[in-house]
Amino acid sequence: MERILPSDEAYDLLDLTREIAERELAPRAADYESRGEFPRQVLRTVGRAGLLGLAYPESDGGGGQPYETYLQVLEVLAGSWLAIAEAVSVHTLSCFPVAAYGSERQRKLLPEMLAGDLLGAYCLSEPQGGSDAAHLVTRAVREGDDYVVTGTKAWITHAGHADFYNIFCRTGGPGAPGVSCLLADADTPGLLPQKPERTMGLRSGPPAQIVFDGAHVAADRLIGGEGVGFRIAMQALDAGRLGIAACAVGLAQAAVDYAAGYAREREQFGRPIAEFQGVSFLLADMATQVSAARALTLSAARLKDAGRPFSVEAAKAKLFATDVAMRVTTDAVQVLGGYGYVADHPVERWFREAKVLQIVEGTNQIQRIVIGRSLTRA
Ligand SMILES: Cc1cc2nc3c(=O)[nH]c(=O)nc-3n(C[C@H](O)[C@H](O)[C@H](O)COP(=O)(O)OP(=O)(O)OC[C@H]3O[C@@H](n4cnc5c(N)ncnc54)[C@H](O)[C@@H]3O)c2cc1C
Repeated sequence: MERILPSDEAYDLLDLTREIAERELAPRAADYESRGEFPRQVLRTVGRAGLLGLAYPESDGGGGQPYETYLQVLEVLAGSWLAIAEAVSVHTLSCFPVAAYGSERQRKLLPEMLAGDLLGAYCLSEPQGGSDAAHLVTRAVREGDDYVVTGTKAWITHAGHADFYNIFCRTGGPGAPGVSCLLADADTPGLLPQKPERTMGLRSGPPAQIVFDGAHVAADRLIGGEGVGFRIAMQALDAGRLGIAACAVGLAQAAVDYAAGYAREREQFGRPIAEFQGVSFLLADMATQVSAARALTLSAARLKDAGRPFSVEAAKAKLFATDVAMRVTTDAVQVLGGYGYVADHPVERWFREAKVLQIVEGTNQIQRIVIGRSLTRA
């Protein structure tokens, strides 16, 4: 597939990513997924290659790459192992609060964060509410030089593996204006990751609840001031949603490539099934949807790179690309017939993995709300 990238450096970066994906990711994915083992060492390799801080400025220790390039890197990673691409996306999201709103002192952590020496987690969702995040109930009360945090976060990617946690919690009254963001280290007493969830897919990186049982977080770890937390959370998600869209494009492209390869080899009625129009039209529709999803995602990224408003376009990209990933992975199973339904081929795993992309970082119903509001508000 031909790509247009913004610089020679970006082409080199994509070549390096393909090499890492082929050498380090593809051979390990199925094994880690079936054992449910968290791939911390693989993430270190990805971090050493500079892929965990790509979209942040070089002056902060990042890769200084436009979002357009970062997303194409994510796409390549997702085509080999979705859990790694999702981890890169979540880590990138988790670095946003400090990078965009951090104090001078907090920003001293950025080089280690962006190099991936420190892995991040983003704690917004709670058991009683994910979509309605403005009504979160985890509370932080100021006591002397600390905030004391009490409550439960749910579905936290990297829970128990992360080195730093962005905690969105209530320091004030009801709704969005009462929310603040605290940065906690993993060894904070009272920060208690629970057992990983037993998930449909992404089994090498399942989320878990985190109980905050009177966890003391130093007051100088408040990011951006009291009451700014919800704004930080939403801005982080705008960019994060593009990451999820890119993961969806990569997963769907892998499914198209695999299904097409299978259709060229598999024979029925004395000829390759790819020669039946019923199959080749299905493949053509799959490939077209993936190209459209990629174009939408990259056009939103270019708006972001140009410093233009991009939040509605990011919602469209996340909605469209993740729905495409679900449809295309479903069709890939169909192209393989019975062989698509068993673990000997990766399409059954991709089908299970695609589902989560329609749910995380705002369900696709929530994306429709964002898009609909932009059309109906005067
Ligand atoms: C694998 C995985 C990893 C995750 N990682 C993280 C993470 O790292 N950090 C984090 O904070 N969260 C994380 N999440 C949580 C995720 O963001 C939430 O699951 C998601 O936002 C939905 O929240 P909910 O599960 O509480 O569903 P609910 O909000 O209860 O929604 C249930 C259903 O109702 C629909 N719905 C809700 N409100 C409306 C509405 N107004 N109009 C129409 N439909 C509506 C939803 O679309 C959904 O279909 C993760 C989830 C999963 C599964």
